[in-house]
Amino acid sequence: MITLQTLYHDLCNLLNPRFCGICDSRLNPSEQKLCAKCLMRLPYLFIENYYDNDVSRLFWGRVPVERAYSHFRYLHDSEAHRFMVMLKYKHRPDLGVWMGGVVARELLSQDFFDGIDCIIPVPLHWRRYLTRGYNQSTQIARGIAKVTGLPLLKRHVRRIRNNETQTHKTSSERFQNVENLFRVRRKIPYSHVLLVDDVLTTGATLTSCAQAILDKYPTMCISILTLAKA
Ligand SMILES: [Zn+2]
Repeated sequence: MITLQTLYHDLCNLLNPRFCGICDSRLNPSEQKLCAKCLMRLPYLFIENYYDNDVSRLFWGRVPVERAYSHFRYLHDSEAHRFMVMLKYKHRPDLGVWMGGVVARELLSQDFFDGIDCIIPVPLHWRRYLTRGYNQSTQIARGIAKVTGLPLLKRHVRRIRNNETQTHKTSSERFQNVENLFRVRRKIPYSHVLLVDDVLTTGATLTSCAQAILDKYPTMCISILTLAKA
């Protein structure tokens, strides 16, 4: 049966067509930022144990992490890769907010957010921020904050060095390169922080960010969420 609402949506779609953030095909009214095909093709990790998984193990022996989660695998030449390119380099911050919300809604029905009382996105160096115009991790965190109602602390941690791109470094070089990369610059009146980043590779950057918080607040509980894991 055609309802007024369907008619309205069809009309909106006709007047203001929307396109998939990955493949650029036209979205139908029930689809949001990505088409169903691209959404289905994302290489999901399906992490159910937040305490012991491929993500949490990256931090063992480096920094205490309570829970850790990544939503999909960052496979080259996959929908995940194309999504991250759009989010980081093609000025689509809205994709980050939306995907952050999608992930949060999924985790909300589990116990992932239990006890977490604030969200901190991994900050960009100001120079990188100026060229990109936004921090992609903040956009993801905004989507999570919207769904969970948790406070988003955007200016409490600062990236004090613009570390050169880490792509050609080995894992141990990356860990050396990110020492003292961050500094806490405002009081964090909470006890369990969710650190949010876009892509997790070796965990060096997130370790450094968590360490900066723990240097100031040794009893702080840290959990980690990233959209992708390389
Ligand atoms: Zn698509």
